Amino acid sequence: MTARILVVDDHIANVKLLEARLGAEYFEVLTALNGADALTFAETGQCDLVISDVMMPGMDGYELCRLLKAGASTAHLPVVLVTALDQPADRVRGLDAGADDFLTKPIDETALFARVRSLLRLKAVTDELRARLVTSRGLGTADPFAQAARDDGKGGRILLVDDRAPALERLRQTLAPHHVVSVERDPQKAVFTAAQTDYDMVIASLDFKDADGLRLFSQVRSLERTRQLALLAIAEPHDRARILRALDLGVNDYLMRPIDRNELLARVRTQLRRKRYSDRLRDTLQTSLELSVRDPLTGLSNRRYFDAHAATLLTEAVRQRRPLSLMMLDLDRFKSINDTYGHQGGDAVLSEFAQRIASAIRGEHLIARLGGEEFAVLMQDTAIDAVERAAERIRQLVAAVPMQLPQAGRAAPVTVSIGIAELIPSETLEGLIARADAALYAAKSTGRNRVVRAADSRVDTPATARQIA
Ligand SMILES: [Mg+2]
Repeated sequence: MTARILVVDDHIANVKLLEARLGAEYFEVLTALNGADALTFAETGQCDLVISDVMMPGMDGYELCRLLKAGASTAHLPVVLVTALDQPADRVRGLDAGADDFLTKPIDETALFARVRSLLRLKAVTDELRARLVTSRGLGTADPFAQAARDDGKGGRILLVDDRAPALERLRQTLAPHHVVSVERDPQKAVFTAAQTDYDMVIASLDFKDADGLRLFSQVRSLERTRQLALLAIAEPHDRARILRALDLGVNDYLMRPIDRNELLARVRTQLRRKRYSDRLRDTLQTSLELSVRDPLTGLSNRRYFDAHAATLLTEAVRQRRPLSLMMLDLDRFKSINDTYGHQGGDAVLSEFAQRIASAIRGEHLIARLGGEEFAVLMQDTAIDAVERAAERIRQLVAAVPMQLPQAGRAAPVTVSIGIAELIPSETLEGLIARADAALYAAKSTGRNRVVRAADSRVDTPATARQIA
């Protein structure tokens, strides 16, 4: 994995040292000797990750970190702070500033690359989500970036796993005032518990007496139900090799025993905020994808989806030599419905109309609202005679019972005109739509409330005898 890493330190020798080490691992390295320059590089999108010294004249590392995390264009960048002393109090201060991780001078090479790789992996996932989200912006969904900034990182649902009762109890007591905490002593059972309940985070020991802590983490990461959980490992200081393996397996963070309570709280808070941020990105993306293909009033597909999907269905029909037919539907004198009953009345009629179409058409066919009072049904594997029967069914369903209006007890009598056409050899989608539209126009001009076949559809030919080549 290659990436651009920004190294910030007021001592040029430190900068050069890190630059050489990272460069040797094929990372691209940018350097800054003060916080202000670093901020400019980050804001102009020149880096993927920031490694910053804490002690710098002017803007120190904490302040730089806080500004990066507060900026809309830089909040997603992982920040690693480098401290001279490995004091829990420094780490807590850094975590409060939003730092994602810490390295202690002199920097241990293995730890450096493990942390950098793990943070870049995480960033790759959120970058992908962000990119997809940006392309579907402007759909009126809540802004996940603003929500993330407001998140206090409390109220997490946490599963604690440790086979030593006293250690488990100490962790529980520290976390319980701020989070909803469950405990489990058996790591095997913990995998099932995690999958069955809706947790945000698993905190587990790496050194169980009769079980492999790494296995627990790897199982939780690979199960569909639990793969998005934040994972925090707890290890003995001499167990560096297993910590590095854990990070490789996708564990987000770790703590060394003896555990500093404030550091535990701060790390949990950071992980919860990060998890909720990606959850929100994912949810927002899902909503915007649905909004971008659905008509919000009727719940039917919209024109954008119809155009894209119809082209696919046409190609498929031609390839398989199966019939494909189109129905264009338009409510009669809809303008007068709006004029008489208001827009709310008009909306009620449209959504009721959509339901009646859906009740007459099997689920595998594509039903879309193309705009206004204009709807289309594209029917796979259906020849013109069957389409005509379906269209007639819809026409009758609409005309038979007036549409219910929002005003209690009121209903509007409505009729629909429908034009139908079956795909003919070497016809394009535009051609098919044009013929169905012409048939619809004919239905309108010959009195409305009727179904009209496109003029050049062949009549009474069994579907099996058709050649669509
Ligand atoms: Mg310094």
